[in-house]
Amino acid sequence: MRPPVVNPEHLRQEITRLREAAGGLTLAEVIDANRQRCKRWHDADTEPWTGADWSNAMCGEAGEAANVVKKLRRHETRTSPQGGPDEAALRAALGHEIADTILYALLLGDHYAIDVVEALIDKFNLVSERQGFPERLRG
Ligand SMILES: [Mg+2]
Repeated sequence: MRPPVVNPEHLRQEITRLREAAGGLTLAEVIDANRQRCKRWHDADTEPWTGADWSNAMCGEAGEAANVVKKLRRHETRTSPQGGPDEAALRAALGHEIADTILYALLLGDHYAIDVVEALIDKFNLVSERQGFPERLRG
């Protein structure tokens, strides 16, 4: 399956659609809710997690995402076993595993006192500059 050719107008429309679908939700709100839930989950009665624990959790979720992609590839190559989950269910599951991975990545950043939003902006812009691409994130 070839990736779609990026049309700037279609990209702008997609960004607008995503913003509307998010209902104004911002990355800052996600980070805040993730931190609050983490404090509830890892309260004073629990053993504090190390950076390795957060990293392992993030990579575990990425592995779960890869396992779903393995099953999607079986559909793409028509080698999927009878009675297995259909593609729509697998795509939904992949979305959840990607979300799990991102949420743990944010908590990993918190553990090491990394401003992940700043890191996103810096890294995105560094790669764009290195590759000679015009896309930049505010920063
Ligand atoms: Mg998961």
